[in-house]
Amino acid sequence: MQIAIMSRNRNLYSTSRLKEAAEARGHEVKIIDPLKCYMNINMNAPSIHVRGEELPKFDAVIPRIGASVTFYGTAVLRQFEMMGTHPLNESVAITRSRDKLRSLQLLSRKSIGLPVTGFANQPADVPDLLDMVGGAPCVIKLLEGTQGIGVVLAETRKAAESVIEAFMGLKANIMVQEYIAEAGGADIRCFVIGDRVIAAMKRQALPGEFRSNLHRGGSASIVKLTPEERSTALRAAKTMGLNVAGVDILRSKHGPLVMEVNSSPGLEGIEKATGIDVAEKIIQFIEKNVKPTSSKTKGVG
Ligand code: ADP
Ligand code: MG
Repeated sequence: MQIAIMSRNRNLYSTSRLKEAAEARGHEVKIIDPLKCYMNINMNAPSIHVRGEELPKFDAVIPRIGASVTFYGTAVLRQFEMMGTHPLNESVAITRSRDKLRSLQLLSRKSIGLPVTGFANQPADVPDLLDMVGGAPCVIKLLEGTQGIGVVLAETRKAAESVIEAFMGLKANIMVQEYIAEAGGADIRCFVIGDRVIAAMKRQALPGEFRSNLHRGGSASIVKLTPEERSTALRAAKTMGLNVAGVDILRSKHGPLVMEVNSSPGLEGIEKATGIDVAEKIIQFIEKNVKPTSSKTKGVG
Protein backbone atom coordinates (compact mmCIF):
# COMPACT_ATOMS: atom_id res chain seq x y z
CA MET A 1 0.00 0.00 0.00
CA GLN A 2 0.90 3.64 -0.36
CA ILE A 3 0.62 5.20 3.08
CA ALA A 4 0.88 8.90 3.94
CA ILE A 5 1.79 9.98 7.45
CA MET A 6 0.70 13.51 8.24
CA SER A 7 3.29 14.86 10.62
CA ARG A 8 5.21 18.09 11.06
CA ASN A 9 8.44 16.34 11.95
CA ARG A 10 9.80 13.04 10.65
CA ASN A 11 12.15 12.72 13.62
CA LEU A 12 9.39 12.47 16.20
CA TYR A 13 9.36 9.05 17.87
CA SER A 14 5.77 8.21 16.85
CA THR A 15 6.26 9.33 13.25
CA SER A 16 9.49 7.43 12.72
CA ARG A 17 8.17 4.27 14.41
CA LEU A 18 5.05 4.25 12.21
CA LYS A 19 7.18 4.72 9.10
CA GLU A 20 9.54 1.95 10.16
CA ALA A 21 6.67 -0.44 10.97
CA ALA A 22 4.88 0.23 7.68
CA GLU A 23 8.04 -0.24 5.63
CA ALA A 24 8.87 -3.44 7.48
CA ARG A 25 5.51 -4.77 6.33
CA GLY A 26 6.21 -3.88 2.71
CA HIS A 27 4.35 -0.59 2.37
CA GLU A 28 5.56 2.62 0.79
CA VAL A 29 5.48 5.57 3.15
CA LYS A 30 5.62 9.31 2.63
CA ILE A 31 5.71 11.76 5.52
CA ILE A 32 3.77 14.91 4.71
CA ASP A 33 3.88 18.13 6.70
CA PRO A 34 0.26 19.34 6.67
CA LEU A 35 1.32 22.98 6.89
CA LYS A 36 3.25 22.61 3.63
CA CYS A 37 0.19 21.33 1.77
CA TYR A 38 -2.05 23.53 -0.31
CA MET A 39 -5.20 22.38 -1.93
CA ASN A 40 -7.56 22.62 -4.77
CA ILE A 41 -11.14 22.24 -3.56
CA ASN A 42 -12.66 20.93 -6.71
CA MET A 43 -15.59 18.55 -6.82
CA ASN A 44 -14.31 16.54 -9.77
CA ALA A 45 -10.60 16.43 -9.09
CA PRO A 46 -9.65 17.37 -5.54
CA SER A 47 -5.89 17.41 -5.11
CA ILE A 48 -3.14 18.25 -2.64
CA HIS A 49 0.06 20.00 -3.63
CA VAL A 50 3.42 20.40 -1.91
CA ARG A 51 6.06 22.77 -3.30
CA GLY A 52 4.68 22.85 -6.81
CA GLU A 53 4.01 19.13 -7.05
CA GLU A 54 0.73 17.27 -6.88
CA LEU A 55 0.73 14.42 -4.38
CA PRO A 56 -0.05 10.97 -5.77
CA LYS A 57 -3.12 9.14 -4.49
CA PHE A 58 -2.50 7.26 -1.24
CA ASP A 59 -4.42 4.21 -0.04
CA ALA A 60 -4.32 5.28 3.60
CA VAL A 61 -3.36 8.31 5.65
CA ILE A 62 -2.21 8.30 9.26
CA PRO A 63 -2.97 11.71 10.75
CA ARG A 64 -0.61 12.83 13.52
CA ILE A 65 -1.99 16.31 13.93
CA GLY A 66 -0.57 18.37 16.77
CA ALA A 67 -3.00 20.43 18.85
CA SER A 68 -1.57 23.70 17.57
CA VAL A 69 -2.30 22.83 13.94
CA THR A 70 -5.74 21.24 14.37
CA PHE A 71 -7.53 23.70 12.11
CA TYR A 72 -5.30 23.46 9.06
CA GLY A 73 -4.34 19.84 9.69
CA THR A 74 -7.93 18.61 9.72
CA ALA A 75 -8.62 20.63 6.55
CA VAL A 76 -5.78 18.79 4.80
CA LEU A 77 -7.07 15.48 6.15
CA ARG A 78 -10.56 16.25 4.78
CA GLN A 79 -8.95 16.80 1.41
CA PHE A 80 -7.33 13.33 1.61
CA GLU A 81 -10.75 11.91 2.48
CA MET A 82 -12.34 13.66 -0.51
CA MET A 83 -9.68 12.07 -2.70
CA GLY A 84 -10.74 8.63 -1.43
CA THR A 85 -7.77 8.01 0.86
CA HIS A 86 -8.69 5.95 3.91
CA PRO A 87 -7.98 7.91 7.12
CA LEU A 88 -6.82 6.00 10.20
CA ASN A 89 -8.91 8.48 12.19
CA GLU A 90 -11.48 10.62 10.40
CA SER A 91 -11.22 14.40 10.39
CA VAL A 92 -14.61 14.86 12.08
CA ALA A 93 -13.64 12.54 14.93
CA ILE A 94 -10.35 14.40 15.45
CA THR A 95 -12.10 17.76 15.52
CA ARG A 96 -14.61 16.42 18.05
CA SER A 97 -11.93 15.04 20.35
CA ARG A 98 -9.91 18.29 20.34
CA ASP A 99 -12.65 20.16 22.18
CA LYS A 100 -12.67 18.82 25.73
CA LEU A 101 -16.10 20.13 26.56
CA ARG A 102 -17.71 18.78 23.42
CA SER A 103 -16.06 15.41 24.07
CA LEU A 104 -17.39 15.24 27.63
CA GLN A 105 -20.89 16.16 26.44
CA LEU A 106 -20.80 13.34 23.88
CA LEU A 107 -19.45 10.84 26.43
CA SER A 108 -22.03 11.77 29.05
CA ARG A 109 -24.79 11.19 26.53
CA LYS A 110 -23.58 7.58 26.36
CA SER A 111 -23.53 7.30 30.16
CA ILE A 112 -19.75 6.93 30.31
CA GLY A 113 -18.36 7.78 33.78
CA LEU A 114 -16.87 11.30 33.93
CA PRO A 115 -15.68 13.61 36.68
CA VAL A 116 -18.47 16.10 37.52
CA THR A 117 -17.75 19.02 35.21
CA GLY A 118 -19.15 22.54 34.91
CA PHE A 119 -18.77 25.26 32.34
CA ALA A 120 -19.70 28.94 32.53
CA ASN A 121 -19.03 32.18 30.79
CA GLN A 122 -19.78 34.92 33.33
CA PRO A 123 -17.93 35.70 36.56
CA ALA A 124 -21.32 36.21 38.28
CA ASP A 125 -22.03 32.49 37.84
CA VAL A 126 -18.79 31.27 39.40
CA PRO A 127 -20.08 30.66 42.96
CA ASP A 128 -22.97 28.55 41.67
CA LEU A 129 -20.67 26.74 39.24
CA LEU A 130 -18.34 25.83 42.10
CA ASP A 131 -21.27 24.49 44.11
CA MET A 132 -22.29 22.37 41.13
CA VAL A 133 -18.93 20.58 41.03
CA GLY A 134 -18.81 20.13 44.80
CA GLY A 135 -16.70 23.19 45.77
CA ALA A 136 -12.97 23.13 46.46
CA PRO A 137 -10.64 21.45 45.86
CA CYS A 138 -11.41 21.46 42.14
CA VAL A 139 -9.56 21.31 38.85
CA ILE A 140 -9.77 24.18 36.35
CA LYS A 141 -8.88 23.42 32.73
CA LEU A 142 -8.42 25.40 29.58
CA LEU A 143 -10.63 23.74 26.96
CA GLU A 144 -7.89 23.45 24.40
CA GLY A 145 -4.84 22.72 26.56
CA THR A 146 -2.59 19.67 26.18
CA GLN A 147 0.34 18.08 28.01
CA GLY A 148 -0.97 19.32 31.34
CA ILE A 149 -0.48 22.97 30.44
CA GLY A 150 -3.57 24.92 31.42
CA VAL A 151 -4.70 22.44 34.10
CA VAL A 152 -4.78 23.96 37.59
CA LEU A 153 -5.66 22.44 40.97
CA ALA A 154 -7.43 25.03 43.14
CA GLU A 155 -7.22 23.85 46.73
CA THR A 156 -9.49 26.45 48.28
CA ARG A 157 -12.68 28.10 47.13
CA LYS A 158 -10.97 31.51 47.15
CA ALA A 159 -8.18 30.22 44.91
CA ALA A 160 -10.73 28.65 42.56
CA GLU A 161 -12.70 31.89 42.28
CA SER A 162 -9.59 33.97 41.54
CA VAL A 163 -8.23 31.56 38.94
CA ILE A 164 -11.60 31.23 37.18
CA GLU A 165 -12.07 35.00 37.14
CA ALA A 166 -8.55 35.51 35.80
CA PHE A 167 -9.14 33.02 32.97
CA MET A 168 -12.51 34.59 32.18
CA GLY A 169 -10.88 38.03 32.12
CA LEU A 170 -8.51 36.70 29.46
CA LYS A 171 -11.49 35.39 27.49
CA ALA A 172 -10.14 31.84 27.81
CA ASN A 173 -12.69 29.01 27.65
CA ILE A 174 -12.43 26.85 30.74
CA MET A 175 -14.16 24.04 32.52
CA VAL A 176 -14.27 23.34 36.22
CA GLN A 177 -14.08 19.77 37.39
CA GLU A 178 -14.43 17.77 40.56
CA TYR A 179 -10.95 16.83 41.84
CA ILE A 180 -10.51 13.06 42.05
CA ALA A 181 -8.15 13.00 45.03
CA GLU A 182 -8.22 9.20 45.40
CA ALA A 183 -6.56 8.83 41.98
CA GLY A 184 -3.41 9.86 43.88
CA GLY A 185 -1.81 11.79 41.03
CA ALA A 186 -2.11 8.79 38.69
CA ASP A 187 -4.12 8.08 35.61
CA ILE A 188 -4.43 5.15 33.21
CA ARG A 189 -3.73 5.55 29.50
CA CYS A 190 -5.62 2.93 27.48
CA PHE A 191 -4.39 2.61 23.91
CA VAL A 192 -7.33 1.58 21.75
CA ILE A 193 -7.05 0.22 18.21
CA GLY A 194 -10.37 -0.75 16.64
CA ASP A 195 -12.36 -2.75 19.15
CA ARG A 196 -9.43 -3.68 21.41
CA VAL A 197 -7.36 -2.05 24.12
CA ILE A 198 -3.98 -3.22 22.85
CA ALA A 199 -1.85 -1.67 25.61
CA ALA A 200 -2.29 0.23 28.85
CA MET A 201 -0.02 2.05 31.24
CA LYS A 202 -0.32 3.80 34.54
CA ARG A 203 1.20 7.27 34.71
CA GLN A 204 2.19 8.56 38.11
CA ALA A 205 2.84 12.24 38.76
CA LEU A 206 5.99 13.45 40.49
CA PRO A 207 5.67 13.90 44.28
CA GLY A 208 3.80 17.14 45.01
CA GLU A 209 2.32 17.25 41.49
CA PHE A 210 -1.21 16.08 40.59
CA ARG A 211 -0.77 16.03 36.81
CA SER A 212 0.53 12.68 35.63
CA ASN A 213 1.48 13.79 32.08
CA LEU A 214 4.83 12.33 31.02
CA HIS A 215 5.64 15.83 29.70
CA ARG A 216 5.27 17.06 33.30
CA GLY A 217 7.74 14.50 34.61
CA GLY A 218 5.27 11.68 35.28
CA SER A 219 6.55 8.09 35.17
CA ALA A 220 4.93 5.20 33.33
CA SER A 221 4.48 1.57 34.34
CA ILE A 222 2.52 -1.47 33.23
CA VAL A 223 -0.96 -1.82 34.63
CA LYS A 224 -3.61 -4.49 34.49
CA LEU A 225 -7.01 -3.14 33.53
CA THR A 226 -10.24 -4.24 35.12
CA PRO A 227 -12.95 -5.44 32.70
CA GLU A 228 -14.91 -2.28 33.51
CA GLU A 229 -11.93 -0.06 32.63
CA ARG A 230 -11.41 -1.93 29.40
CA SER A 231 -15.03 -1.59 28.31
CA THR A 232 -15.13 2.08 29.36
CA ALA A 233 -12.09 2.83 27.18
CA LEU A 234 -13.59 1.03 24.19
CA ARG A 235 -16.96 2.75 24.55
CA ALA A 236 -15.26 6.15 24.88
CA ALA A 237 -13.23 5.67 21.68
CA LYS A 238 -16.30 4.41 19.85
CA THR A 239 -18.41 7.36 21.02
CA MET A 240 -15.82 9.76 19.63
CA GLY A 241 -15.69 7.80 16.38
CA LEU A 242 -11.94 7.20 16.72
CA ASN A 243 -10.35 3.98 15.43
CA VAL A 244 -7.15 4.75 17.28
CA ALA A 245 -7.34 6.60 20.57
CA GLY A 246 -5.58 7.16 23.85
CA VAL A 247 -8.31 7.09 26.48
CA ASP A 248 -7.25 8.58 29.82
CA ILE A 249 -9.03 7.23 32.86
CA LEU A 250 -8.97 8.22 36.53
CA ARG A 251 -9.53 5.46 39.09
CA SER A 252 -12.18 6.90 41.41
CA LYS A 253 -14.06 5.31 44.26
CA HIS A 254 -17.10 5.21 41.94
CA GLY A 255 -15.24 3.31 39.21
CA PRO A 256 -13.39 4.46 36.10
CA LEU A 257 -13.92 8.08 35.01
CA VAL A 258 -12.85 9.19 31.55
CA MET A 259 -10.83 12.39 31.59
CA GLU A 260 -10.09 12.76 27.92
CA VAL A 261 -9.81 10.92 24.63
CA ASN A 262 -6.73 11.71 22.52
CA SER A 263 -6.86 11.28 18.74
CA SER A 264 -3.08 11.31 18.15
CA PRO A 265 -1.81 9.36 21.16
CA GLY A 266 1.98 9.24 21.43
CA LEU A 267 3.74 5.90 20.96
CA GLU A 268 6.94 6.48 22.90
CA GLY A 269 5.60 6.30 26.46
CA ILE A 270 3.33 3.32 25.84
CA GLU A 271 5.83 1.28 23.78
CA LYS A 272 8.62 1.83 26.28
CA ALA A 273 6.44 1.11 29.31
CA THR A 274 4.80 -2.03 27.92
CA GLY A 275 7.25 -3.38 25.33
CA ILE A 276 4.33 -3.76 22.92
CA ASP A 277 4.90 -2.94 19.25
CA VAL A 278 2.05 -0.44 18.97
CA ALA A 279 3.22 0.91 15.60
CA GLU A 280 3.00 -2.54 14.03
CA LYS A 281 -0.50 -3.06 15.43
CA ILE A 282 -1.63 0.23 13.88
CA ILE A 283 -0.28 -0.81 10.47
CA GLN A 284 -1.95 -4.22 10.77
CA PHE A 285 -5.22 -2.47 11.58
CA ILE A 286 -4.89 -0.37 8.42
CA GLU A 287 -4.17 -3.48 6.36
CA LYS A 288 -7.37 -5.10 7.65
CA ASN A 289 -9.59 -2.07 7.18
CA VAL A 290 -8.57 -0.24 4.06
CA LYS A 291 -11.32 -0.33 1.52
CA PRO A 292 -11.44 2.40 -1.08
CA THR A 293 -14.77 3.91 0.00
CA SER A 294 -14.88 3.14 3.71
CA SER A 295 -14.70 6.75 4.96
CA LYS A 296 -18.32 7.49 5.79
CA THR A 297 -18.05 11.26 5.90
CA LYS A 298 -15.98 11.82 2.78
CA GLY A 299 -14.54 14.91 4.37
CA VAL A 300 -17.73 16.85 4.93
CA GLY A 301 -19.54 17.65 8.20
P1 ADP B 1 -4.13 17.60 29.26
O1 ADP B 1 -4.94 17.52 28.01
O2 ADP B 1 -3.38 18.88 29.35
O3 ADP B 1 -3.29 16.36 29.43
P2 ADP B 1 -5.86 16.53 31.32
O4 ADP B 1 -7.29 16.82 31.43
O5 ADP B 1 -5.48 15.21 30.79
O6 ADP B 1 -5.18 17.68 30.46
O7 ADP B 1 -5.19 16.74 32.76
C1 ADP B 1 -3.79 16.57 33.00
C2 ADP B 1 -3.55 15.68 34.20
O8 ADP B 1 -4.08 16.26 35.38
C3 ADP B 1 -4.22 14.33 34.11
O9 ADP B 1 -3.40 13.40 33.40
C4 ADP B 1 -4.44 13.93 35.56
O10 ADP B 1 -3.27 13.33 36.10
C5 ADP B 1 -4.65 15.28 36.24
N1 ADP B 1 -6.11 15.56 36.36
C6 ADP B 1 -6.87 16.15 35.41
N2 ADP B 1 -8.15 16.26 35.82
C7 ADP B 1 -8.21 15.73 37.04
C8 ADP B 1 -9.27 15.57 38.00
N3 ADP B 1 -10.51 15.98 37.74
N4 ADP B 1 -8.97 14.97 39.18
C9 ADP B 1 -7.71 14.55 39.43
N5 ADP B 1 -6.67 14.69 38.60
C10 ADP B 1 -6.90 15.28 37.41
MG1 MG C 1 -4.10 14.45 29.34
